Amino acid sequence: MEKKEKKKQEKKQKIKPDCETCQYYDFDDEYGDYICSQMLDEDEMVRVMEYGAADCPYYRFYDEYMMVRKQN
Ligand code: SF4
Repeated sequence: MEKKEKKKQEKKQKIKPDCETCQYYDFDDEYGDYICSQMLDEDEMVRVMEYGAADCPYYRFYDEYMMVRKQN
C-alpha cells in the first residue's frame, strides 16, 4: 500500500501542466503572474494538474505568427 502511494506521489511530481503554449495562459496584472483565463471546473483542473495541458478540454495552441497575420 505504501509503495503504491509513493509511486503515485512521484508520478505527480514529474508531471506538470504545460500551459505555457496555450493561448489562454495570460499574464494577470493584479495577481502578478501567469494564470489560465478559462473557467475550469474542479474536475478539469485536477486533470490538468495530473496529466498536463494535453488533457485540458480548452487547450488551444498559441500561434504567435497566426495572431500577427490576423492583425495585418
Ligand atoms: S485552458 Fe487549459 S491548457 Fe490552457 S492555460 Fe488553461 S488550464 Fe492550461
